[in-house]
Amino acid sequence: DEELKPVGAVSVIKDALKLIRSTIPTTIEITHNFPDEEIIINADSAQINQVMMNICINAAQAMEENGGTLNVTVDKMQIKCIDHIYPDISPGQWLKITISDSGPGISNDIIERIFDPYFTTKPVGKGSGMGLSVVHGIVKSHHGAIYVDTSPEQGATFNIFFPVVAEKN
Ligand code: ADP
Ligand code: MG
Repeated sequence: DEELKPVGAVSVIKDALKLIRSTIPTTIEITHNFPDEEIIINADSAQINQVMMNICINAAQAMEENGGTLNVTVDKMQIKCIDHIYPDISPGQWLKITISDSGPGISNDIIERIFDPYFTTKPVGKGSGMGLSVVHGIVKSHHGAIYVDTSPEQGATFNIFFPVVAEKN
């Protein structure tokens, strides 16, 4: 873990979102909810930025035809016992990043494969199929977890968790 150091996750995500705003089409509206306080995680900020970019660019590409809304919500979550929705999250304090889009969602027949390297549904030249594989690797190396929630009505939602660094007192 030598490359991981305490970073303010809210600032890192806000900065990533500024870059994303300048990258994706203006037909896509970005909404966000950030906590007032900073949340410290052990991370490589460049890699957290990469996670945000890869997921938000996928969301933008999924919505591109008619535009849509991309929402990013950041919060601190206290897990008291193992939750059946998030089985890999142990009790403790977690940073939760929720990224949701109003696109078509991800169909059941491909959902098991989206984190696999080289898996893509995009035309040659548009997608390498590496984006979510890289995201998965970064989340794992940060001792986090990622879950997808999707439906044709609600689009795709990615929930990403990272352990919060305990506050000294
Ligand atoms: P790529 O973007 O190069 O195709 P990714 O690993 O980033 O590779 O994504 C893999 C696949 O997962 C995409 O081709 C697409 O089918 C699906 N996908 C990812 N994010 C979304 C999303 N927000 N909405 C719909 N499908 C998605
Ligand atoms: Mg991608």
